[in-house]
Formats: sequence, structure tokens, C-alpha cells
Amino acid sequence: MKRLASLVFLLATLVLPMLPLTVTAQGFGLEEGDGVPLTKTVEAQAAQTEAASAPGSALVLAAPGQAGVGQPFLVRLTSDQPLDTVSVHWLGKEVVPTISVWNDRHVALVMLGTDVLNAKPGKEELVVMASIDGKENTLRRTVQLVPVEYQRQELTLPEKMVTPPAEVLERIRAEREVTRAALETVSSARMWRLPLERPVGGEVSSPYGAQRILNGKPKNPHRGLDFRSPMNNPIKSVADGVVILVGDFYYAGNSVYVDHGNGVISLYFHLEKPMVKEGDTVQRGQVVGLTGMTGRSTGPHLHLSISVLGRLVDPEPLLKMTVDDMLN
Ligand SMILES: [Zn+2]
Repeated sequence: MKRLASLVFLLATLVLPMLPLTVTAQGFGLEEGDGVPLTKTVEAQAAQTEAASAPGSALVLAAPGQAGVGQPFLVRLTSDQPLDTVSVHWLGKEVVPTISVWNDRHVALVMLGTDVLNAKPGKEELVVMASIDGKENTLRRTVQLVPVEYQRQELTLPEKMVTPPAEVLERIRAEREVTRAALETVSSARMWRLPLERPVGGEVSSPYGAQRILNGKPKNPHRGLDFRSPMNNPIKSVADGVVILVGDFYYAGNSVYVDHGNGVISLYFHLEKPMVKEGDTVQRGQVVGLTGMTGRSTGPHLHLSISVLGRLVDPEPLLKMTVDDMLN
């Protein structure tokens, strides 16, 4: 009997982690502390949240009052009544987030952000629309975008790496269309949770936002993280998802794009070899490729970018922080 019980336990520990996307706190990015009574949440986050419409309404929006240029942030809508639909509008883009149920509360969690390439300090409007029992509620917030001191990097490289030869300009233009289209993907099921899985073990050799001066000429800021890595190191997907693009691009070399749902996409560049193909479903931690130095790269490393509604944000906080860390 005792033996049977331990066998059942062993089977459960082996099989349970393999079950697909179960509705648990972790699977939806909700953590310890999310289960506090609603009234307490309203009090505790008075600076950031506000009950919508009539007094006694239990629709609570948590959103930051300010965000650094290039930084990702989270928006969470919580309701004690079922949410029919929610849509979040930010910088001309719309996302219809997955609604999950946690401790009898209905929760929609959205990742947003700006891109160091084109965001400017100033005020931007965030609009959240929520339909409850056929009634439309509109919540508006102002997010103050504040400057961030990013690094400055001066590099001297062979001139042909800095200025592409005329015969590849058409190729670069065509590739930009393909990658831009991939980044427009906003699929309906949220598959990411925080913190994201670290794709390789190596330390960060070049941070997000670094202003690059190549051979004395200012270039675009670095819109991802570079990880030091030897050749052919396995690269892990940062979250569950679907591979939406695999290609060999002029700048990025062999690349893999994984869609994690609700507008969040991870990009892995300069691979020696992709280990997945378009349409593949991948799990968090699954190997998507091997590190290399294909494309415009001076040595083996992994470049990771995270796209949020088509904007490349700083991946670093997403690799370290929980949902609660980011909301508080
Ligand atoms: Zn890079």
C-alpha cells in the first residue's frame, strides 16, 4: 500500500510538469499576494489604481504613472464581475488580452512599453476598455515617459561592417518588410509569464539602449541584450510560444522569432543554427537554436530582443522581475 502511494506520488511529480498550460497562478503571471481582498488592493495601490465608474464598483486598473523611455511595463485590470472583453490601447496599437480567473476575480494582464529608437520623454495616453454585463467602461491614464541614462559605446569595426555595400541595400529593405510584418503579430492567447527564462547562462556584454558610435558615426541605439556565449551554446526560449519566423538576415544572421501572445515576441539573433522551424510550438526553456556569429557580428554571442506591440523594449527587467515587482 505504502509502495503504491509512493508510486502514485512519483508518477504525479513526473507527469504534472509536462501537462500543457494549466490554469495556475504561475501560468498566468499571478503570484503570492495577488489573492488579497479587493478593498485592500485599492488602498495599497491608491497612487496607481483607481476604481472605475460608480462608487462600490470593483473594477481596478493598475498602471504606472511613469515609465522610462525604452522600458517595458505592465497594466493589470481586475474585476469581481466577469469581464466580457477587454481592449488596451497604447501608442496607436490595440491588444485584446487573455482574461484569467484567480480567487474569483477576473484579471487581464498586458505588457506594454516604448522603443528607445523612437520614444520621446513626455505624456502618452493609455486607454483601457472593459465590457461587463454588456456595459462598456472606459478608463484613461496618462503615462509620463521619462528619460533613461543609457550607455554610450564607441567601436571601431571594419568599414564594410558599418556601411553595407550598395548591392545589399535592396536585400536589407526586403528583410525589413518581413521582420516588421512578424512584429505586428498580436495573437490572442497569452503564453508568457514573468520573470522570463534566461536564454543562455553568459553575462550581458552589451546592454539595451547603448548609444553606438561606429567608426565615429552615430548609429541606432542597441535594441536588445547581448549575452557572452561560446559557439554552439544551446539557446532557450524565454517563454512558451509559437515560432513565427526563421530566416537568415543581413544584419541579424540566422534568426528565430517566437510569438508569446498578446503582442509579446522574442527574437534570437546571430545563431550558428536554428533548431526550430516556422509553425513549431515551443515550451519555455526549449532549445530554439545554437549560438554563433552569423550576420553583422564580431564574435560569438546571443542577441536577444523583446518586441511588445512592435516596439523593442529593454528585456533586462523582464528576465528578473515578477508581475508584482513590476506593478509595485
Ligand atoms: Zn546585440
